[in-house]
Amino acid sequence: MSIDFSDNNFEFTESTQLMNTSATAEDDGEYSLRPRTLTEYIGQEKAKGNLDVYIQGAKKRNEPLDHVLLHGPPGLGKTTLAAIIAAEMGSALRKTSGPAIEKPRDLAALLTNLNENDILFIDEIHRMNRAVEEILYPAMEDRQIDIIIGQGPSASSITLELKSFTLVGATTRSGQLSSPLRDRFGIDLKLELYTPEELQKIVTRSAAILNVEIEPDGAYEIASRSRGTPRIANRLLRRVRDFAQVFGNGVITREAADHALQRLEIDGSGLDAIDRRLLKSIIENYNGGPVGLETIAATINEEPVTIEDVYEPYLMQQGFLTRTPRGRCVTPKAYRHLGIDIIQDSLFDN
Ligand code: ADP
Repeated sequence: MSIDFSDNNFEFTESTQLMNTSATAEDDGEYSLRPRTLTEYIGQEKAKGNLDVYIQGAKKRNEPLDHVLLHGPPGLGKTTLAAIIAAEMGSALRKTSGPAIEKPRDLAALLTNLNENDILFIDEIHRMNRAVEEILYPAMEDRQIDIIIGQGPSASSITLELKSFTLVGATTRSGQLSSPLRDRFGIDLKLELYTPEELQKIVTRSAAILNVEIEPDGAYEIASRSRGTPRIANRLLRRVRDFAQVFGNGVITREAADHALQRLEIDGSGLDAIDRRLLKSIIENYNGGPVGLETIAATINEEPVTIEDVYEPYLMQQGFLTRTPRGRCVTPKAYRHLGIDIIQDSLFDN
């Protein structure tokens, strides 16, 4: 899942980069950490359990799997799950993304080139333009596409039959999907932020693959400060490994992890410098809220979409921030965490 920070005067501090949920070149290089089977895929028990049933069912009937929509914040394992679906179905995976498909004919070419039972993965499917999206409707429903040939009065429409395929769409914002598109997915799976215990297992597994010695407490320390996101957990593991190797004997103990994470400005609740800046700015400039997303974004010089997709899910899950119809509000827990006194008692009901 990539979010373009390039044109936003984005401050690329070390901790920003670490807590950024977008994939980086280093993450690509570490693709060995990706689980390959459903059994290796840790957590997401509900989504995984249901998916397992649908896959077994489709295989028994000798049919392709129904189209799958995966939604949830970046870095939670949507791309990984798409690859697992392909592996479990014994199908080839073709990958693209919503913004990469510029014209209807690009998508038409992609669809007509699919082989029998291929899995087509479209990341950021909510960013596909409407004209392209309309090609998908008949493709998903009737396995055909209509193409216009020629121009003006001599133009004619022909229908092309497609091979059977499964579309796996991933999105961080399912609310932005049009209902005709959403309705055409037979399987809808929502991925949730991971618990520290699940992330501890992921960190332990990754450490074994990377050949790093880690104690259970060390893995838990990294896990509980990875904002519920495997991509961040793996990235922090690599950085903590560096600190443990340079300042210690290379073993990641709880103390080694804590020392490294403090150096990286990731606090005990897993908040980074931007999280704290966001909460502080609502407290200091807007008396704790409510304040609109656009206003917060302008105040801290971030894209609203980044705040919504990357920062808010974790801050809300941890109870530091709430969304109300009138805007965002910080909670008393955020004041306590930042060591700031609440000035107006009336701000909160309790
Ligand atoms: P998304 O597509 O949702 O942004 P990815 O599928 O690219 O996320 O996952 C990011 C990284 O996190 C992967 O490289 C993988 O190593 C790790 N990961 C994600 N989900 C899991 C999981 N359930 N178990 C173990 N590792 C995971």
